Amino acid sequence: MYTIRIYGDPVLRVKGMKVPVEKIPEIKDIAEEMFRAMYAYEGIGLAAQQVGITEQIVVIDTHEEGSSPMVIINPDILAYSEEESSYEEGCLSFPDIRADIRRPVAIKLSYYDIHGNEHTEEFDGLLARVLQHEIDHINGTLFIDRMSPVSRMLLKKKLNKLKESHGDTP
Ligand SMILES: [Zn+2]
Repeated sequence: MYTIRIYGDPVLRVKGMKVPVEKIPEIKDIAEEMFRAMYAYEGIGLAAQQVGITEQIVVIDTHEEGSSPMVIINPDILAYSEEESSYEEGCLSFPDIRADIRRPVAIKLSYYDIHGNEHTEEFDGLLARVLQHEIDHINGTLFIDRMSPVSRMLLKKKLNKLKESHGDTP
C-alpha cells in the first residue's frame, strides 16, 4: 500500500502534471490504491502528491449523506464565491496538526472523472472545502500556506519538528 508523504518531503511542493485525457483509463489502479490509503488513514480526501505521484489526481469521500466517492482528474477552479467561511482543517501529511482556514464557501469546477468524461459543476459545503484543500495539494500548495500568521506562529515548533524528521523521505 502507498505510504503517506509527510511535510518536509519535497514531493509535496511539486505541481502535478495534467493526465493526458486518453491515458485516464490507465490510472484506475492508482485511484483505487489512493482510496485504500485514504481510508486506511481515515482521511476524507487525498491528492496524488501525498503518495508521491506528481499528477493531477484527487480522491475524495466525505461520507456525508447522499455523497459518493469521487475521483477528480485535471481539476480547474473556474470561479469562487465571494462569501468565505472558516473551518478547522487537518491534513494526512501533517499528523496531529489542525487549524482554522478561511476559504470561499462555493466553487465552480471543471474536471475529468475516472471514465475520461469532462464535467463542469458547482460545489459548496464540506465538499467545496475538501476540493479546494486537495486542489491546492496538486498545485504544490499546503494548508499551512493558507493559515493566519498567528496560527502558523503557534504551530511553528510542531511544524519544524515534522519537517526535520521527514525531510529525508525518498
Ligand atoms: Zn492535505
